[in-house]
Amino acid sequence: MKYGLIGRNGRMGNEIYNLFSEKGHQLVFSYDKSGEFFEEKPEILIDFSLPEAFNKVIEYVDKFKVPLVIGTTGLDENQIKQLHEISQNIPVVQSYNFSIGIQVLLRLTKLADSLLKDVDIEILETHHRFKKDKPSGTAKMLKDVLNKDVNISSIRVGNVPGDHTVYFGTLGEVITISHRALSRRTFAEGVLKSAEFAIKSIAGFYTFNDVFNLTI
Ligand code: NAD
Repeated sequence: MKYGLIGRNGRMGNEIYNLFSEKGHQLVFSYDKSGEFFEEKPEILIDFSLPEAFNKVIEYVDKFKVPLVIGTTGLDENQIKQLHEISQNIPVVQSYNFSIGIQVLLRLTKLADSLLKDVDIEILETHHRFKKDKPSGTAKMLKDVLNKDVNISSIRVGNVPGDHTVYFGTLGEVITISHRALSRRTFAEGVLKSAEFAIKSIAGFYTFNDVFNLTI
């Protein structure tokens, strides 16, 4: 596919570029702080930048009128609302986490919550020192599936791509459910699957769960 990448020079931008190149996909447009690269109109736009670039993302979607896969975290309510609005005309795949393992973690968390009574629940997330948003989008997704007021603790150390743990503690025992991303490549693989999905989908708002279609 011929794709465009916003946040091209970032850690995720590089990971996506390397994987897509290996698989024979062609970067024909990119945008980053250093400026714009344009060769031809892309078939799909991918955004892994920061919320500050969001208006440009909307501008380019409007210009190219192609599907969008967006993984940028820290978006506010209004930005999410805008994504829903543009999804009336184009397919949008939005997720704060593009790893399949997190989809499993979300389900295990919901299951544990439904089985345990009189339990304390806490979420812990650990990321690399450069991560700008806190708590992580994935921690917020975990809180959302629990649908209750759960405390989130955040640690920023070294070069950790992303660790998430949910603790369930009763007076007699503690269950911990954890996920560890071993590299950013796992996210890039999810982005590629999402791009392939978006290109053949009708307009609508999709999550990474729709891409994998896990049934439990
Ligand atoms: P990064 O800081 O390495 O890269 C961000 C890139 O965006 C940089 O190249 C930067 O120059 C560019 N950028 C920032 N503001 C800009 C602006 N106003 N205009 C143009 N370009 C701008 O960050 P990263 O680690 O690559 O992560 C990028 C985003 O993806 C973050 O929001 C991060 O939390 C998120 N992320 C999501 C997932 C997921 O699975 N959804 C996984 C990893 C990271």
